[in-house]
Amino acid sequence: MQIILAKPRGFCAGVTRAIETVERAIAKFGAPVYVRHEIVHNKFVVESLKKKGAIFVNEVEQIPTGAISIFSAHGVSDKVEEDATKRGLDVIDATCPLVSKVHREAKKYEEENYEIILIGHRGHPEVEGTSGRVKKPVILVTNEEDARNIQINNSQKIAYVSQTTLSVDDTKKIVEILEQRFPSLEKGLATKDICYATQNRQDAVRSLCKIVDLLLVIGAQNSSNSNRLRDLGEESGLPSYLINGASDIQKNWFKNVEKIGLTAGASAPEILVQEVITKIKEISKDEVLVSDMNGIEESTFFALPRKVRK
Ligand code: SF4
Repeated sequence: MQIILAKPRGFCAGVTRAIETVERAIAKFGAPVYVRHEIVHNKFVVESLKKKGAIFVNEVEQIPTGAISIFSAHGVSDKVEEDATKRGLDVIDATCPLVSKVHREAKKYEEENYEIILIGHRGHPEVEGTSGRVKKPVILVTNEEDARNIQINNSQKIAYVSQTTLSVDDTKKIVEILEQRFPSLEKGLATKDICYATQNRQDAVRSLCKIVDLLLVIGAQNSSNSNRLRDLGEESGLPSYLINGASDIQKNWFKNVEKIGLTAGASAPEILVQEVITKIKEISKDEVLVSDMNGIEESTFFALPRKVRK
């Protein structure tokens, strides 16, 4: 049996920065530090940070006045920022710079009086953050059907922004429909807001699916970018499983499977990949060869928030 590892896979620059922000804040200011929402969508990461002294809360109202408070990589709305200021919280913003870029884009469109379409998943923290960065309601488009049915009052000035972790292919289709329906739609690359890490991991999985019999994606069930990787496997006709880690693996998945493709979403640490490899080796009767596919080396790096720089 063979395991072929996707390249790139796992942590992106935004996730690395967010986790390091929490670790440095604990080291510098002492535990506990409060984190609004899961810092990134991964239980293993959240549990390890809890052990180091992070307390995760859903809302800023749960944080004691004056406490060190960290906003997650997914970003927050203006209201959350205002509420934190009102409570006198000492905020460190770990929003991924690529999410902040989408926030600025949405604000710019608002200033220029555009109606704003937001392509993304309803209820996802990033979508809530981005829609809460502009004062008037955005029009949420979650799929092609929405794109066919939304009604827009001012069809002269329309622009779109998107979640950073969407499917590249689905987003292209959605934008195509919007462009047909609304000729005045601000022109741009359909995938302009989908981040480099999402695009690279999807490209890698697309190539990987051509040479394997089954795809395993390590990532949380609520991780958007991980779900999209599993979707790509399914679209290629492969049995594809999104797993939290080694304990989710079922022996019967590997019947008649010669080559396993293994990847990890942008918020899944490499240690989980290694545990999955160990587990497959344990359950396989044959020798298991592990190799990396040919893929790009990522070098993107984001500086830490000022308050936690040394
Ligand atoms: S997936 Fe993309 S947008 Fe999200 S944290 Fe990583 S680099 Fe930033």
